[in-house]
Amino acid sequence: MSNIIYFVVPCYNEEAVLEVTAQKLMEKVESLIQRDVISPKSRITFVDDGSKDQTWPMIKELSTTHHLISGVKLSRNRGHQNALLAGLMTVKDLCDATISLDADLQDDIDVIDQFIDKFLNESCDVVYGVRNDRTTDTGFKRHTAQMFYKIMNQLGADIVYNHADYRLLSRRALNGLSEFKEVNLFLRGLVPLVGYKSDVVYYERHERFAGESKYPLKKMIAFAIEGITSLSVKPIRLVTTLGISVFVISLIPLLYSLVQWMNGNTIKGWTTLILSIWTLGGLQILCIGVIGEYIGKIYLESKQRPRFIVEEFINEVD
Ligand code: UDP
Ligand code: MG
Repeated sequence: MSNIIYFVVPCYNEEAVLEVTAQKLMEKVESLIQRDVISPKSRITFVDDGSKDQTWPMIKELSTTHHLISGVKLSRNRGHQNALLAGLMTVKDLCDATISLDADLQDDIDVIDQFIDKFLNESCDVVYGVRNDRTTDTGFKRHTAQMFYKIMNQLGADIVYNHADYRLLSRRALNGLSEFKEVNLFLRGLVPLVGYKSDVVYYERHERFAGESKYPLKKMIAFAIEGITSLSVKPIRLVTTLGISVFVISLIPLLYSLVQWMNGNTIKGWTTLILSIWTLGGLQILCIGVIGEYIGKIYLESKQRPRFIVEEFINEVD
């Protein structure tokens, strides 16, 4: 009995790419089924993340004409990470493993065979897709991404370098993932925490073939802050270290002025006064910001709001 694999594809306003993506994925899945690598019960599940264009009607149409295609419609836009989780959680009891990938096929689908090979023959529960070059990303995105992974590693977070959300998860890894209840999701940080045997598969990242990126700079920064604060409390410790350092440094001018005062001198210094007020004021506001970021997170997590609401699930199982 071959394994049932569900391919989960989050989509937000992807009408420009959907048809081609569905076509290419179906060819891939059909060839795997024909070679008896995966079961004919395998499906490609498109998750509509509250798109404002024709994405959902297109998914619906595709699912009626092609039995391999299924669809999940979220009640509103919840962002890439939540949409992906919604897809994974909706199909997890129907399959032996999932492979998640983006709708724009920037991730090379030819390495899917390697993902499945590692799952079947090396009994890996998690297989990470890792980009071995980022030449198709803009220089800016490449550098900021690199900086992000470096910061994450320095903060002690266990994330796989240059891995996005292209990955295979076995059913028990999915069950493990479902135990993590946090509302602010950063999947690439959570999956390593699930554990089990894992491996990586390297691939070349292509350019988006149509439509535009849904990750403008503002969203990328928010995503990076999200990742850092959801995996590490080291920034708060850095605030403490900063406070101690500033205090120690301030002892130097303090001692100096004390000595001067004992010698009967007064120190003039409008500039030093103003500068230190501004520097310390700035540092204080920054530190309040860092702490506030975590308090905000506690506030949002404490409400335990649902991460997504599924409006419709179309899945034809024979
Ligand atoms: N996406 C989503 N919800 C959103 C934003 C994006 O489901 O609110 C999906 C999008 O359709 C795509 C994937 O997330 O399948 C990655 O987005 P994109 O390709 O725009 O990001 P980039 O590759 O530029 O980082
Ligand atoms: Mg993309």
